[in-house]
Amino acid sequence: MRILIISDLHANITALDAVLAEAGPVDACWCLGDLVGYGPDPNECIARVRSLPNLKCIIGNHDAAVLKQIDVDTFNPEARLAIIWTQKALSDNNVAFLRLLPEKLEIGQVTLAHGSPRHPVWEYLLDTRTATLNFSYFETLYGFVGHTHLPVLYSLTDGQNVAGMSIPVPNTRLVLSPRVILNPGSVGQPRDRDPRASFAIYDPDSNVWEYRRVAYDIRQVQERMLSAGLPERHIQRLSGGW
Ligand code: ZN
Repeated sequence: MRILIISDLHANITALDAVLAEAGPVDACWCLGDLVGYGPDPNECIARVRSLPNLKCIIGNHDAAVLKQIDVDTFNPEARLAIIWTQKALSDNNVAFLRLLPEKLEIGQVTLAHGSPRHPVWEYLLDTRTATLNFSYFETLYGFVGHTHLPVLYSLTDGQNVAGMSIPVPNTRLVLSPRVILNPGSVGQPRDRDPRASFAIYDPDSNVWEYRRVAYDIRQVQERMLSAGLPERHIQRLSGGW
């Protein structure tokens, strides 16, 4: 079984389409939130995600901000501008879709949360200390998260006090052993200095996590951002993957 794992699409349809082409046919898609914010294609991105087979999707902090469930003033000025732009651009139908997204989901042996199992919408899992604490906040063998835009694996085996951390090598397969928290990286705005779109294919039958990167036409997206009047800094960062 092939399950496409995507996160932090950030309204970048060109990156998302490159990911879908590279992934090939999949049986299901699990999306870890932040479908919108930063990028120029919020409606196109949501429509594409909605068309994917056996979709499971949770809400991210940018999605919640666009819905006014989070105070926009908690974002930095440029992210705030992009959220306000998205609020104006988004169709009623897509607003309704975002509104129905849960904060956390448990599917078989996997828990999905945008930020962390402990604080699904907001917490950033950026270090082993925070990751260690989070292993007590979900019951399943595996936790899949997004939010930091950084591909990473945290593992905690029986008897271990502190979680281990490793950064997977792009385009490799990992056989998962309990228990791990994994981040597939960001489709639409990678921040690990690799500008290629990031995603994973998970096979629950063999417990394999295939971590992938794919190049896409960044300039095309930057041109659309420029004509939409989106912040310059967000346009620039796509080229460097920061
Ligand atoms: Zn994000």
